[in-house]
Amino acid sequence: MLPHSPFNRIQAPAKLNIRLKVIGRRTDGYHELVSIMVPVSLFDDLELEIIPQPGIMLTSHGLFVPDGEENLAYRAAQAFFSLTGIDQGLSINLTKRIPVAAGLGGGSSDAAHTLKALNDMFANPLSFKDLEGLAVRLGADVPFFLQCRPSIASGIGEILEPIENWPEFWYVIVTPPFQVSTSWAYDNLNLRLTGNEYASILETLEKGPFKVADFLENDLETVTSIRFPVIDTIKKSLMDVGAEGALMSGSGPSTFGIFISEDQALSAKRHLTPKNLGDVFAVAWVSKNAGDHDPLGSKE
Ligand code: ATP
Repeated sequence: MLPHSPFNRIQAPAKLNIRLKVIGRRTDGYHELVSIMVPVSLFDDLELEIIPQPGIMLTSHGLFVPDGEENLAYRAAQAFFSLTGIDQGLSINLTKRIPVAAGLGGGSSDAAHTLKALNDMFANPLSFKDLEGLAVRLGADVPFFLQCRPSIASGIGEILEPIENWPEFWYVIVTPPFQVSTSWAYDNLNLRLTGNEYASILETLEKGPFKVADFLENDLETVTSIRFPVIDTIKKSLMDVGAEGALMSGSGPSTFGIFISEDQALSAKRHLTPKNLGDVFAVAWVSKNAGDHDPLGSKE
């Protein structure tokens, strides 16, 4: 099959977990969770081009990520070609800006956006349901990035309920200079019984104006912050510069504060950068079409 368009350039945003409660462990080793996930305006760039040579060629720039088959964007392209039976050479040019193994879901976002971009380039040979099937096999966070809008994620992350009217907060993310393996964090988690997480999140959202600080809880934070106490230092620093609340995202180590306005977020960023706690980003949430547009902008 010939491509409808031989070139596609898209942006793959990072995510933050505003709440992450682990509610059980399945026999296959995956954990069941309930999480509020929001895509934010810190982006990797992906350029996909159909080339005459056979096979998939991935080049990356910026932060270090594995090339070739170990890269999630490569694996997504492989899965797409295998399901569609399309036999074309592809070059993927990845500019990596989202810190790696940092709780920001960059690899999953690259995978989901590669699937969407290829489906576009070949005029939608796969339905959204087919793409979801491929996504969940690539990783538990990949289905979230296919939809790419504020959502309550449950199951292993693949059951997604969009949250309409998520408030337009700003976030300041601090990523200290080390990586945390997601499987290490889950392996070290002491599962405790939680109440009906899903129902209580829905109830709070439906009741009307809510305080976002009431949502901020991450079961993995205890695990990571015991091993890396700088997480608590970052949280405290974020609160000191005016955050409404602060939390570690995913399995960390990225930790973010929530701010009501862009000015407050940019001022917090200016105060935090000289403290050398890590890389500091001021971001807003981005809408579903973040891959094509950046409605609020990634300001600094
Ligand atoms: P998660 O919480 O979903 O595990 P994370 O943000 O903590 O996400 P990622 O940045 O997605 O972690 O990286 C996880 C692992 O995947 C790293 O060990 C990295 O080497 C590998 N990886 C493969 N491809 C990519 C990619 N395109 N971008 C980032 N990491 C990738």
